[in-house]
Amino acid sequence: MSNSTDELFKNVISHAKEYGFVFQSSEIYDGLSAVYDYGQAGVELKNNLKTYWWKAMVQMHDNIVGLDSAIFMHPTIWKASGHVDGFSDPMIDNKDSNKRYRADQLLEDRIAKLDEEGKTSEAEELQLEMDNALKAEDLPRLKELIIEQNIKCPVSGTANWTDVRQFNLMFSTQVGAIADESDTIYLRPETAQGIFVNYLNVQKSGRMKIPFGIAQIGKAFRNEVIARQFIIRMREFEQMEMQYFVRPGTQKEWFEKWKAARLKWHLALGTDEAKYRYHEHTKLAFYADAAYDIEFDFPFGFKEVEGIHSRTNYDLSQHEKFSRKKMQYFDPEVDPETGKPFGNYIPYVIETSIGLDRMFLLTMINAYEEEDLSTEEKQDSRTVLRLHPALAPVKAAIFPLTKKDGLPEKAREIMDALKLNFNLQYEEKDAIGKRYRRQDAIGTPFCITVDHQTLEDNTVTIRHRDSMAQERVPADQLEKIIGDLVSWKNLLG
Ligand code: ATP
Repeated sequence: MSNSTDELFKNVISHAKEYGFVFQSSEIYDGLSAVYDYGQAGVELKNNLKTYWWKAMVQMHDNIVGLDSAIFMHPTIWKASGHVDGFSDPMIDNKDSNKRYRADQLLEDRIAKLDEEGKTSEAEELQLEMDNALKAEDLPRLKELIIEQNIKCPVSGTANWTDVRQFNLMFSTQVGAIADESDTIYLRPETAQGIFVNYLNVQKSGRMKIPFGIAQIGKAFRNEVIARQFIIRMREFEQMEMQYFVRPGTQKEWFEKWKAARLKWHLALGTDEAKYRYHEHTKLAFYADAAYDIEFDFPFGFKEVEGIHSRTNYDLSQHEKFSRKKMQYFDPEVDPETGKPFGNYIPYVIETSIGLDRMFLLTMINAYEEEDLSTEEKQDSRTVLRLHPALAPVKAAIFPLTKKDGLPEKAREIMDALKLNFNLQYEEKDAIGKRYRRQDAIGTPFCITVDHQTLEDNTVTIRHRDSMAQERVPADQLEKIIGDLVSWKNLLG
């Protein structure tokens, strides 16, 4: 990471704290690693991102419906899905510092270093060796590679390593009063399984016909060993997932459609296309038949924000096997080739899975600008969040020019007429310029000032966040002016 991007990232993190977007969890107790709280501005931005996703999925598609399944589920679900046996990372400990690392990430860092030093062929060779060891789950080989590469613990500076072991990422807890092995349940590490086990409930009660989708937003939990880069890798995070159930044989076509549709959703926010790229998974999970990530160019490099996966009929078949309940769908449509209905089958699934917290960080980084406003006479600058108006936590701020002459009352009256439609903020403290800066810092698209002229002709000044231009408009037009700019139509229309 170069100095300036490092600086940018640090500034975004401190801005997020200073203006009530993101706080470290349990801060007064020195924090809890990889857990964060969203503050007064953050919760609004997060809710707006959820709304954007939900509307794009559920409201805009008549064959996609929502679901809110419980975080706790029957423990056999995680046996069936493969998470109990396979959802783990290879870990290694340094015996001198007692610090734990992901073996593959130590090697990844080494590969990046070799690349940086121009030792491309060595880097490629190591990558290949590591991929083979990971694929074969050859843990001793991973350790050998770490030793061969003379990789040292950054804390102790020694290469005194333990063996590599698999570490399951699921959190577990106990139900009921008596702690007993059989009562162990897990905090879900993904929201998808809640959709799989409910798919027939939704299909039957909603009379859904294939192809159809089920969308869900909810918390997921992973005991990530290395927690770094702020809200990129958290132990408690939120996912927005949609599982699309299709006829076997049509999955490739649907995969391509969703892959394109999801990037379009990201780009509609006005993000520079060059900041995004697709990354194809070359090492597919054994049951998957295609997988792409959508990656964003964060200050610390390209990083996955969303995955689009073709999961075949693996999960549903596993649940049929483990629950001994039929997971088949009856397709009444006539197959043009045979002239008969397609009949019973277990659908194939295309999944789109986006991390809400990563989307949140991406949005903050994209929007953050330290703008130089200096003129020949004086130096000046502002920090502005150029959020899409539909995402902005506060849509407009209402300022009485002064605290007297009935201006606060008039400002309150204007606010009361608008607050049913928009999230607004009232501010009367400090000079107007200072109040503008505070609103710029949280991305408020409009500041509305009520002055003495307002009392005479019911006009106000409206100041635009991006251009900083001001104009005088009748107060009764505010609803339309604000409404037009912050409308979801601008993103979804
Ligand atoms: P990574 O390789 O970065 O660990 P993953 O491939 O395990 O991610 P998926 O299981 O595909 O991620 O989860 C879907 C999405 O959930 C990811 O694209 C990411 O945005 C988000 N996500 C996954 N793990 C975390 C986490 N620990 N903290 C925040 N978001 C996460």
